[in-house]
Amino acid sequence: MLNRPLSLTLRTTRKHLDRLKGLGVQTVKDFLLYFPWRYADESEFCQISEMKINEINVVQGRISNLFARRTRTGKFMIQAIIEDGTGKLPVTWFNQIYLMRLLREGDSVIVSGKLKLIGRRLSFTSPKIEHLKKEQIHTGRLVPIYHETEGISSKWIREKLKPLLDAARNFEDYMPKEILEEERLIPYSEAVTNVHFPENEDLLKKAQMRLAFDELFLLQFRALQKKLEWQKIGMDEQKQIVMNTKFVQGFVDKLPFKLTNAQNRCLAEILQDMAKPFPMSRLLEGDVGSGKTVVAAAAILHATKAGYQALMMAPTEILAKQHYQNFYKLLNPFSLNIQFLAGSTIESQKQNIIQQMKTGTLDIVIGTHALIQDRIGFKRLGIAVIDEQHRFGVKQREILKSYGSPHLLSMTATPIPRTLALTIYGDQDISILDEMPAGRQEIVTRIVSEAKRNDAYKWVYEQVRKGRQVFVICPLIEGSQVEEMADIKAATEEFERLSKHVFPDLRLALLHGRMKQNDKDAVMEKFASGELDILVSTSVVEVGIDVPNATIIIIEGAERFGLAQLHQFRGRVGRSKHQSYCFLFQSSDSENAQKRLLSMTQYSNGFKLAEIDLELRGPGEVYGIRQSGIPDLKMASLTDAVLVSRARTQAEKFLQKDPELKNHPSLALQISKLENIAIDY
Ligand code: ADP
Ligand code: MG
Repeated sequence: MLNRPLSLTLRTTRKHLDRLKGLGVQTVKDFLLYFPWRYADESEFCQISEMKINEINVVQGRISNLFARRTRTGKFMIQAIIEDGTGKLPVTWFNQIYLMRLLREGDSVIVSGKLKLIGRRLSFTSPKIEHLKKEQIHTGRLVPIYHETEGISSKWIREKLKPLLDAARNFEDYMPKEILEEERLIPYSEAVTNVHFPENEDLLKKAQMRLAFDELFLLQFRALQKKLEWQKIGMDEQKQIVMNTKFVQGFVDKLPFKLTNAQNRCLAEILQDMAKPFPMSRLLEGDVGSGKTVVAAAAILHATKAGYQALMMAPTEILAKQHYQNFYKLLNPFSLNIQFLAGSTIESQKQNIIQQMKTGTLDIVIGTHALIQDRIGFKRLGIAVIDEQHRFGVKQREILKSYGSPHLLSMTATPIPRTLALTIYGDQDISILDEMPAGRQEIVTRIVSEAKRNDAYKWVYEQVRKGRQVFVICPLIEGSQVEEMADIKAATEEFERLSKHVFPDLRLALLHGRMKQNDKDAVMEKFASGELDILVSTSVVEVGIDVPNATIIIIEGAERFGLAQLHQFRGRVGRSKHQSYCFLFQSSDSENAQKRLLSMTQYSNGFKLAEIDLELRGPGEVYGIRQSGIPDLKMASLTDAVLVSRARTQAEKFLQKDPELKNHPSLALQISKLENIAIDY
């Protein structure tokens, strides 16, 4: 029954079936799992004598004086009186002539609609109407409202779905009994039934709770399963690296700065992981500038000291190069063989490096995707560090397995609140750098109105004269078929405008994603060495490049970016002793946009901003469903800390009991369906 195609089940047209298909609904089961996204509470009836103006009133009564006529403009108008013993209510419908076929005088009905005062007359126009039945579906209850599409209204869905609801009994409850009992959850079939047509608020809550719990449980169970798999495979490799605290301390002591407490804590967590008999799988989360690189460097150094090789990968060549130079300096005293490998590396050099990786003469290799493109091998890879890990696809872990399951340290500057991180990165342990190195100054952030644009430019000019440098970030152009090209066009135009008309005597350059790697590098190098004053760029500079002398960042069309991204941009400045500034220009001033930008001026903490962004836009928008692999959950809130943690505790417990779900095939099946959802590593 559940798998029956709707084409054999519903009495409807081909067109409607096609439209349902567009919503991903083809079978009875799909239809039952097409959940409402909200409800209209029409469960409270009111007497006609007590109806309230400008509110939705749900009235039960009898029809009289029913007639139809044409208005002067040619519309059909139906009028009737509804009586309930406390009063008489005149009702009018326009252009719903079919109601004449459905309604008879004397019928008992429920009407639901807004009562308005037009001039001095009360008007109850075009309310929903439904015959009084044993069970209402459109009015007089909690009415489910669905995401609609052309030709498929909520009303249509309610009508077609209701008769199929009994089939929900055939859903098998895949969730183990003990979990249902401990968590006091209702049976799955009941949850599906009640989520569509709940008898009351309480039953609706229970249904939503059950379905939300399931989503969070399944997701986390699978993540934990993956973690276990990762650990098991690595077990055979025996990469235990005994903590060499003294050695690491020696490195730390020679740094030109003192590590923050957070850096010390995270580094200790990492070293403890590496000493375990299975490979680490850890995410190091830290705001822009919180000092992740040096933590990674210490971990890598620790591994090389024990005789292992290390890999460090970054999403762009610019960034990888910067890491390479950084590491080269930081690790100089240890006479290690450190190499750089990226798409631009010439072939003979590449072959040479790969050879060194295989034979083991190379200690550390730093680079881009090129490091995992054609499964190059290592002699004894001990640790892999992935910077800005959300930029990488889902395959890297597979490839790292083939490199011998090294300890894996992922890093991200995208501040993800802990609850969210637990669910989406549930296969990793999490370390958070929640403290900035001392002496960092606040970046002065201002929203600049169009009227003040020229003043801002004048001021910027003065700053450049004093030797400072400037980033100009151009807006995302949305809605175009080829968004990237549109972005480039916008940046190019802005570059022309600024260099010809605004700053004709300053040195400007343009940077965008479609430029050749060499050209990009050349521009970046010029900017970094101070040969350029202003860098006009599309959002490609977002990722961690370091130009300390740049102290001003101007962001155009700022409202088009998410807060997390704006915060990343802002992190490009404030890297030196000079006071830094972030100017936000906007191209629209919707209320929501205002609110978001205002929070940029109020908060400098990335986690705080991420939370606000989540509230305002939801996780899908904030992190990009595709980009970060956050699944599009129907019921659960990924930020519901309590439910996330309940589901996680159960998942952890159950994983111990039956790690491969040998005794729970239907649960295993349910989890295997998640494979379609890409969870990023
Ligand atoms: P991110 O976490 O954004 O990758 P980086 O690792 O690039 O940050 O560090 C930003 C800057 O802060 C670097 O110049 C680095 O040398 C410096 N830094 C790191 N840790 C500290 C510290 N404890 N005290 C002072 N400066 C530090
Ligand atoms: Mg970084």
